[in-house]
Amino acid sequence: MSQPQQTLPFPNSYQLKQVAAADAKSCFICYKFTPVVLITTAGGTPDFFYACKTHLSDTNFATIIHNEAHTKNLKQVEYLQGEITKVKGWIAEEEDSKKGSLKDYAWSKLTWSSKPLEEKPASSPESKDAKILKFRQNLGVLEAELKELNDKTLPASQKKNTYLLVAHIYRARLQQRLKKLETKKHYQSLHQEGFFPSAPSNKPV
Ligand SMILES: [Zn+2]
Repeated sequence: MSQPQQTLPFPNSYQLKQVAAADAKSCFICYKFTPVVLITTAGGTPDFFYACKTHLSDTNFATIIHNEAHTKNLKQVEYLQGEITKVKGWIAEEEDSKKGSLKDYAWSKLTWSSKPLEEKPASSPESKDAKILKFRQNLGVLEAELKELNDKTLPASQKKNTYLLVAHIYRARLQQRLKKLETKKHYQSLHQEGFFPSAPSNKPV
């Protein structure tokens, strides 16, 4: 059945919404229950459907167009993860060298015990402890920032991303809309005047 060229009822540009767990419905793709909804509000009548979170990152399902804030947040996550690995490495390094310097320090104290120390050796275990403490504080701040990003900031900016459905899924959405319209038309025609022959009136002609 060929159709005349007409404007599409809704654009292929969906956004993410999450409903309460109690309102979860079956996924458009795999029928599993999900609270994740994709919705497009532009156009005449909005279209929406439920989809598991796992499909969202599947390129066979949709292409995600990240908004500027989300791109920035993702970059920040990457940066923080890098910094955390770096600081963890420094801590491990300091702890390793502390083990070594403890021996050196004990040895230096032993050798120098006859005369007073004018200056604390640079590699004293105390200064290493202070360094490790500083690194750990630093790590705590970085980890807290990463948690905040992952728990709040990212999910919020993700909601403003646009999902461009792959052609066959978008087509399936359009077909479903068409089916709904046809069912509605059919229902209306059943109730339309003149569809059933009217009952003979009792009035004499
Ligand atoms: Zn699914």
